[in-house]
Amino acid sequence: MPELPEVETVRLGLNSVIATSKTPTVVGGEVLLSSTIAGCSQEFFLSSLYGQSLVAWHRRGKYLLCELSNGGWLGVHLRMTGRLLWKDRQCQDLSPHTRVRLFLDGDRELRFDDQRTFGKMWYVPPQVPVAEVISGLKSMGAEPLSAEFTSEYLQQKLHSKQRAIKTALLDQTVVAGIGNIYADEALFIGRIHPTTLASRLNSAQVDHLRLAIVSVISEGLKFGGTTFSNFQDINGKVGNYLDQAWVFRQHGQPCQICQTPIQRIKLGGRSTHFCPNCQPRQEN
Ligand SMILES: [Zn+2]
Repeated sequence: MPELPEVETVRLGLNSVIATSKTPTVVGGEVLLSSTIAGCSQEFFLSSLYGQSLVAWHRRGKYLLCELSNGGWLGVHLRMTGRLLWKDRQCQDLSPHTRVRLFLDGDRELRFDDQRTFGKMWYVPPQVPVAEVISGLKSMGAEPLSAEFTSEYLQQKLHSKQRAIKTALLDQTVVAGIGNIYADEALFIGRIHPTTLASRLNSAQVDHLRLAIVSVISEGLKFGGTTFSNFQDINGKVGNYLDQAWVFRQHGQPCQICQTPIQRIKLGGRSTHFCPNCQPRQEN
């Protein structure tokens, strides 16, 4: 699943298109899978977007939010396999996974492909709070690279959580934009066993964890997102962070610090990777 760095890479790509050419205006569209559109009908979605310019793309957690010329918003969540692609209108290479096509002036197209079909798109009318339509934004936690994301903030979010820290990190109300890859990597760098109860972390551990999260997210951004099954930027370029991964999908490989084989367990239904030596199990 694309996480904060991948979504941010997509956002930068979308904005670079806007910056280097005439602001794209929606002149039509087509919804090929109606369940991709959330919060309104596909007819309302398309008719509302008609005539709107895509002014600037923003990001909150894993959500992409495009500011529209009428003051409304176009929201996108890629979920597991969603991809936004810029195309020439002449380019009719529709994939079996194409779900939504937005036709833009200048013979351009913004296309949403999504193999697993969990991805969503929303139209938020002007004057309506975005979180009212996109409910996942309502209690979204702090952005990990923001000033708000302090050790005190993280401590306060974790102290009441009677859940494994790995599971708590995937909770978007704790910190925005973290998924399976960056959670495993941050826990390795923070030297915290993934099954440790979130509430049992002491303040030094929370401090290390906060720095580790900031570090892995920053690294991920530097490398333009990870290489995993299907993350690509809007031009189809594949990221390369996994070459650098400490533990994620490295099970059976020697730890790069201590040579102990990396282990994989299931935690909350998710594959979790860690070094049993660098991340010793803690009494809960
Ligand atoms: Zn190790």
